[in-house]
Amino acid sequence: MQREMQKMTWKQVRDLVPDEITTVIFPVGTLEAHGATALGTDNYIPESIAQFMADEINALIAPTVNYGITRSLYGYPGSITVSPDSFKAYVRDILDSFVDVGFEQVILLNGHGGNNEVLKEIAHTYFYDTDVKIAVIHWWEFCDDVIKEVYGQDGGHAALNETAMMQAIDEALVDASEYDTDMVYTYRPGADIYPVPGSILLYTKDEGYPDFDITRAKEYQRKVFECVTDFAKFVLERWSMI
Ligand SMILES: [Zn+2]
Repeated sequence: MQREMQKMTWKQVRDLVPDEITTVIFPVGTLEAHGATALGTDNYIPESIAQFMADEINALIAPTVNYGITRSLYGYPGSITVSPDSFKAYVRDILDSFVDVGFEQVILLNGHGGNNEVLKEIAHTYFYDTDVKIAVIHWWEFCDDVIKEVYGQDGGHAALNETAMMQAIDEALVDASEYDTDMVYTYRPGADIYPVPGSILLYTKDEGYPDFDITRAKEYQRKVFECVTDFAKFVLERWSMI
């Protein structure tokens, strides 16, 4: 069945929510430089997780918020940002509309680290104010074990993990010929730099360089999908007992 709200009519939504469907999946990302992968990486990845998950948890998928808080890589061509205040108000307004549609649970799938803090603040007050339950999942942090399981190493930004997810979504969204190790910057304590001197960011020395292996990318993607979906199922089940 069709689960993307953008592709449904208002009557279809009226007939399903809340009688048959009470959960909405809400992808949030940004447009940002990502080494050899497309600027929309942080939007495409949570959308792909949402599409895998929707049938499994019987949810509708709301359209993605494509612009977030881009700071570290602002200045790289194509990176776009909104202010934290604008982002917070805008995302909260959308969440408040979900209440009026009749949803009772929100699974917010975040694709961008710069959004983490504000999304946590929003989630902190949302249920208290509205009685609609919310889980914000930062997939790359939450599935940190999966990158170690499949690749035996840590990921990063636009690194092995995000590059693999994008290749698995659509190989046309990754251009391995553009990749060069001079795009890589390994974070070191004691330096805060804007823009960061590299659009591929590693957090562990010598770990997370993209390998562009499509077979492993597909395996990694499947495990990430299962990791996030299993957790969403668990949370929804626990919520149903409250
Ligand atoms: Zn990213």
